[in-house]
Amino acid sequence: MIAISSISFGEDVEREVLDTLRSGIVAQGPKVARLETEFAQLVGAKHAVAVSSGTTALVAAVQVQDLQPGDEVLTSPFTFVATVNAILEAGATVRFADISATDFCLDAASAQERITERTKVIAPVHLYGQTADMRAVSELADRHGLAIIEDAAQAHGAQFDGQGAGTFGLGCFSFYATKNITTGEGGMITTGDDAIADRLRVLRNQGMRARYQYEMVGHNYRMTDLQASLALPTLPHYPQQVAARRRNAELLTTGLKDLPGVQLPSELTGRLHVWHQYTLLLDEDAPITRDALAERLTERGVGSGIYYPRAAYDYDCYREHPRVVIDETPVATSVAKRCLSIPVHAGLSESDVHDVVAAVRSAMEA
Ligand SMILES: *Cc1c(COP(=O)(O)O)cnc(C)c1O
Repeated sequence: MIAISSISFGEDVEREVLDTLRSGIVAQGPKVARLETEFAQLVGAKHAVAVSSGTTALVAAVQVQDLQPGDEVLTSPFTFVATVNAILEAGATVRFADISATDFCLDAASAQERITERTKVIAPVHLYGQTADMRAVSELADRHGLAIIEDAAQAHGAQFDGQGAGTFGLGCFSFYATKNITTGEGGMITTGDDAIADRLRVLRNQGMRARYQYEMVGHNYRMTDLQASLALPTLPHYPQQVAARRRNAELLTTGLKDLPGVQLPSELTGRLHVWHQYTLLLDEDAPITRDALAERLTERGVGSGIYYPRAAYDYDCYREHPRVVIDETPVATSVAKRCLSIPVHAGLSESDVHDVVAAVRSAMEA
């Protein structure tokens, strides 16, 4: 079976974890600090603040906006539900704009239509490893005085016009097990703002700057040195990992182009795609359904994933939530029914990728 994602840790990681165990510092310590420095460099951000998950990164990023009840965060409904949960956890109201079917990310034109006098934050999601149109999003944010929070959970090292994902506003990254860089569970917030970085550091540690000196109502959002040990040795190799993902994406595109019934994902001009996922979009009139394609791929030994099967608001717990404002998003709704991600991860050999191509072709023709 060719899996949709794979994890393997080398001896360098084993050594790093052992070193941490022997150091006696297993909670937040020097390795977390090193991960912050090195991750900030990787992304091109001034500051990086490590936290316990991508979700808590998003919660903290919203919390430091000092929103008032009723203030709105405008985001994409085509995302992992953590984006929505984090906004609600931080006490804000969430509103959705539609996405563009070319990059699966927040569509600035739709976002513009849905800005109200309560909108304070725009939160694009850099889905599948490619950023949203950050020129359009940044212009919109400037014009309406909005803060930008980037959900970059899937976009470590992605770029827009040479600028790193996570440096257009507050960047929120995930190091969950399946993400491009992992600590098992973990997250990072990037910012160019000294004061915000300082507040995030205090916030993640119970609002405490010096021992028992509380400056704000805080939380425990800390990462541990054990977690940091999983990612630290992998960062120097991350560019090669991205290169492998990019090669695999290119091979998939070469192998699948001209296949009737599917639209292939692409790297848009000016963007650097880090291919967290390679996601097919079946045409409305494709010969088979998305779910049938997934089933046939499984029969042929190829894993696939549906990210995501419904708009994030399309569940009773959100439809009935007093702080969720739902304006329908037809593109996101349609894409959610037709998307299927196929393996593109760095663990694939060239022959694996050819097997994926052959499986998709035969499944679509069968
Ligand atoms: C993974 C993910 C998150 C949440 O990150 P966790 O580390 O799992 O909490 C948020 N948004 C998106 C788009 C994600 O893919």
